[in-house]
Amino acid sequence: MIPVADAIQIVLDQTTTLPAESVALADALGRILAEDIVADTDLPPFDRAQMDGYALRAADVASTPARLRIVGESAAGAGWHHEMKAGEVVRIMTGAPVPAGADAVQQVELTREVDGAGFVEILEAVKAGRSIVKQAAEIKVGETVLCAGEEINAAMIATLASFGYARVKVGRRPRVSVMATGSELVDVSHKPGRDQIRDSNNYTIATYASLAGATVERLPLVGDDTEELKRQIAKAAAASDVLITSGGVSMGVYDFTKAALQELGAEIFFERVALRPGKPTVFARLGDALVFGLPGNPVSVAVTFNLFARTALRVMQGAKEATLTADTAVLARDVKGSIDRESYLPAILRTDEKGTLLAEPLKWGGSSDFVSFARTTALINVPRGVGRIETGSPVKVLRPIISEAYALDRQDFFAAFAPLRGNCGSGSKR
Ligand code: AMP
Ligand code: MG
Repeated sequence: MIPVADAIQIVLDQTTTLPAESVALADALGRILAEDIVADTDLPPFDRAQMDGYALRAADVASTPARLRIVGESAAGAGWHHEMKAGEVVRIMTGAPVPAGADAVQQVELTREVDGAGFVEILEAVKAGRSIVKQAAEIKVGETVLCAGEEINAAMIATLASFGYARVKVGRRPRVSVMATGSELVDVSHKPGRDQIRDSNNYTIATYASLAGATVERLPLVGDDTEELKRQIAKAAAASDVLITSGGVSMGVYDFTKAALQELGAEIFFERVALRPGKPTVFARLGDALVFGLPGNPVSVAVTFNLFARTALRVMQGAKEATLTADTAVLARDVKGSIDRESYLPAILRTDEKGTLLAEPLKWGGSSDFVSFARTTALINVPRGVGRIETGSPVKVLRPIISEAYALDRQDFFAAFAPLRGNCGSGSKR
């Protein structure tokens, strides 16, 4: 058994970034920047009016009302490109260039136009610089504004667009094949027969892998048969950057995934991690593909995917932050750790009245309790060897990305639904 941190380090060491590709800006959301984004213009590109009003010289309106001659108009997209002299003003709109010679803008509300005479009365004095954003005050041409390795989010799109990135270089999406193994499995569309269960791992892994930025193929179910496993694993590995299997990696008589990998000549980097849940996790390379052999239990799948496989998928795309970021929360109920393994226990995060982030451990029945896990928004990390952590203690929590809403930090939204297990509102019972 190797420590979790060592296993993650091995994943980082064995994973290389895929070549970059260029995508249209409209398709860039969620992709990882493979180039630094550099300003190709000053921002603003010219001295810009921040108000509708009159461009003037502050000295001309030191005593008010001041009557000044209107000599022109500067609109957004159509500036007034002459020298404005003392005693003159230029009518100006928000976003328009401030003419040379002007040093302030007085807003239209503080002026009164003199009917038909081509004059305006400025009713209040302004300081020089008022309502003008000077050229390059925000960004200078040549400045780096976003960095390679950052994930492109909605808030960044304006920056990319404004500096002319009609196409953006991003990390290529890894091609992931997902393969559930186990002779008991039937597809979700089937009614399980005697001794059978529906496969959920293929769907879980495919979902997490898509959220991590991969393109995913779900493969047909494979039974517990070494020769068949070898055939399917070899085929899938040859066709993908990453193969993620589930099941067949524990110590049972029919756990053949590892044997199949070994017989195919895969290089196995680790096969047991001091982790709860998720001890029998396998990480290997077969040909050019990385292979994650995740355990069969659905909760173990979620935990080990997010710790290991997700990390590889992010590195492949060139992400600067490849692992889930950790937060500190205050424990809302005692949790028990394990003597020889590091634990990642399902929890819900919420904030109390004072704004403190609380981690509420879910009551769950172990690594097969995927129904309790369905409400999880965070994993509480209990270090190896720590027996019990008391209510009120600070704990490290990881937040697996489970949906777009969650990525936007709406854990309260999910917490609100948490008590609904077994009772989805009026009269309906699970
Ligand atoms: P294994 O790791 O193959 O021993 O599986 C551990 C447990 O997870 C068993 O109860 C399996 O039935 C269950 N399991 C394995 N694969 C899946 C799957 N694809 N979907 C749901 N449960 C699974
Ligand atoms: Mg099995």
